[in-house]
Amino acid sequence: MKKHAIIPIFIPHKGCPNDCIFCNQRKITAHSKVVTPEDVHNTVATYMSTLSKMNMETIELSFFGGSFTGIPLEEQQAFLKVAKEYKDKGVIDKIHLSTRPDYIDKEILNNLKAYSVDVIELGVQSFAESVLKASNRGHDTSCVYRAAALIKEYGFTLGIQLMIGLPCDTLEYDLYSALETVKIKPDIARLYPTVVIKDTGLYEQMVLGQYVPMSEEDAVMRTARMYKILTDAGINVIRVGLKSSDIISDDDNTAGTFHPAFRQLVEGFIARESIESQIDDLYPGIKDFSNHKWDKCPVCAFVSNEKCRNNLFGHKQSNKLYFENEYARLNIRYLTDRQLNLELADGEYLVSDLSK
Ligand code: SF4
Repeated sequence: MKKHAIIPIFIPHKGCPNDCIFCNQRKITAHSKVVTPEDVHNTVATYMSTLSKMNMETIELSFFGGSFTGIPLEEQQAFLKVAKEYKDKGVIDKIHLSTRPDYIDKEILNNLKAYSVDVIELGVQSFAESVLKASNRGHDTSCVYRAAALIKEYGFTLGIQLMIGLPCDTLEYDLYSALETVKIKPDIARLYPTVVIKDTGLYEQMVLGQYVPMSEEDAVMRTARMYKILTDAGINVIRVGLKSSDIISDDDNTAGTFHPAFRQLVEGFIARESIESQIDDLYPGIKDFSNHKWDKCPVCAFVSNEKCRNNLFGHKQSNKLYFENEYARLNIRYLTDRQLNLELADGEYLVSDLSK
């Protein structure tokens, strides 16, 4: 049963005078109707007609899509007033919003506190100045540190959103961004490999050959490295990769750089790396058929908890096929921790030798 629900209120490009190179919100806004506080009532009513029957643990009302704290204070208050009413009545549990780091100051946070906002996510994208500049973000990293510190000081739950593969980005910058995020200690994070959306500056650069999107393989590897850094530091990575609904339009609008199961690709990659490093320790040289030490074909188990079992197999069984090809001399069983009287954490994988 799903325990956590989000009621999304999409406020397209509201208050955002910026034009980030990867973002098509300006074009979407030009064709979308203005969202009003009345729409918030309607959206909550629509969602609650289903959610109220589902016994959810937490229901969050989430303002996303633009830079919420960039809109005039009175407009913020009109939206927040509706959200707070629902929170005070116990219909929703939390109020959640996302914004830019340069739209955070004490006046803004005092207002958000007065309306019982719980979670503030900052669209940071990168901690490399050159990447922010090349992406036309219009802010530097110093305001990220300042905004994050202020949000924590006020006692809000802090989220950090990072992008991978923007213009000028490198694996080193990605790792640096993840490590800087760990230093800031947010509660939650989101990782978004760059998706090239039509009608954006990035798309134009790609067409002109000035920007080359990451290969899927590269995007998975880089995101996986960042995901490991963040999760090992205890940060809850609540999203990896865009949802198709985030892009608003259909797949034709993404220049082929979008994968609907990106999180599974990343978690499968991490599972495979963990298993491979253990195989190398347990059965050194087993890939080499001229090494007769392993002619007896050892039997081993690849173990995870029930929840992470799919990661062992990989997206569309890609890991299973990979292991069968690369480790043809291993007799592999796929077991859960309970079958071996173990207790493995999420993301923990074990190779256990069953030959003895
Ligand atoms: S990404 Fe955010 S800040 Fe940048 S243009 Fe889009 S809505 Fe504005």
